[in-house]
Amino acid sequence: MRLLNRQHHRLPPGEWIGLFTDPTSCLPSWVAKTDFGFQPFPFPRAQPITVLNRTPLYNIGATSQQLLRREWPDDLEGDTDYVGAVQHVRVVTLLRGPHKDPCHLYVDFLTGLNFDPARWLWRDQTPLLAYTAKQGRTLLRATRQLSTPIAAKWPGLLPQTFKAEWQDVWRPVRPQKDAAFLWSIYHKAVAVNSWRHQIDPGIDPICSLCQREEETLLHRFHSCQATLALWNQAQSAIHLFAAEPLGPHPRFPWFLCIFGKGLPRRYRPFTHLWSLLRGTVMWTAWLRRNALVFQDAWWSTDHSNQRLWECLIDYGRRALLKAHHTGGSQPQQRARLLQKFEEQWAFSPALGDFSNGSMKWNLLPPRVGFFI
Ligand SMILES: [Zn+2]
Repeated sequence: MRLLNRQHHRLPPGEWIGLFTDPTSCLPSWVAKTDFGFQPFPFPRAQPITVLNRTPLYNIGATSQQLLRREWPDDLEGDTDYVGAVQHVRVVTLLRGPHKDPCHLYVDFLTGLNFDPARWLWRDQTPLLAYTAKQGRTLLRATRQLSTPIAAKWPGLLPQTFKAEWQDVWRPVRPQKDAAFLWSIYHKAVAVNSWRHQIDPGIDPICSLCQREEETLLHRFHSCQATLALWNQAQSAIHLFAAEPLGPHPRFPWFLCIFGKGLPRRYRPFTHLWSLLRGTVMWTAWLRRNALVFQDAWWSTDHSNQRLWECLIDYGRRALLKAHHTGGSQPQQRARLLQKFEEQWAFSPALGDFSNGSMKWNLLPPRVGFFI
């Protein structure tokens, strides 16, 4: 195969070029594959080009986009001259049918692509379009198995023996959205700037809120000053529930905040509240970050704390509604459910005053304590 042009720059062998002779059409007149004897450089302006006799050229099927081998007339002698712009184009090759016959499909010229299927691979490294139902089943099975344990995703931070408490994450009272978000944090599947920077080096890895440190998952959901303020509020609430002074207290470590592991014994009666608070802190931290990034809106610490507290009250209101609803018309069961609510939500006046089956909620968050 030989194709002559006047350019000295080259495309590597195995790439596809298209000749665009009609400026009003987005489809090339023909496409051809480069090889070691034919490595032209794309040039956008129409120029004369000479194709040696019997060179494999392909037309493009109008609706199927499939490449159709162009037949040369038997009596053709000599080379053929064309005039057009040469573009680097994307053609994908699939294996079709029981005999795995190769089938070439035209996608677009490279600079016109919003999405380049040749650059995407499945997790098992097969090309995007080399997809079979069998392969899909295998990939789905692998997804369910989650081959990488959480400890391996947090190397050096979590012990290899770490086991997440999924029952805590998927508590029935927690909305699915919040539970799924917690699950994503555990699996490091949240698009923080540090991760986005690895995908696109043009994205700044620095935290948008503090502008000081890289926005890793640990930074976003714990150590950023903006997030620590939320944890201070959450931990202060726990101290208040346990009738402890404002402080100073040592801060809860990051794994007690993010993973809920190691709540001190004296706070065990408030485990369920800590669990809900943890989820709400991390969700609020993410909303606070997104408000700034996407809407240029700055949430103050007071605003964020107020939101955190209102979310906790919302959980409490729904728990009370459920007790009334489930209790229904059965006085004995209703009394038992309301007693359980009182134990969980009205053990201290911090959240509100409970009497005669109704709660007067404290809508203002408690004061934030001191931490060392
Ligand atoms: Zn930060």
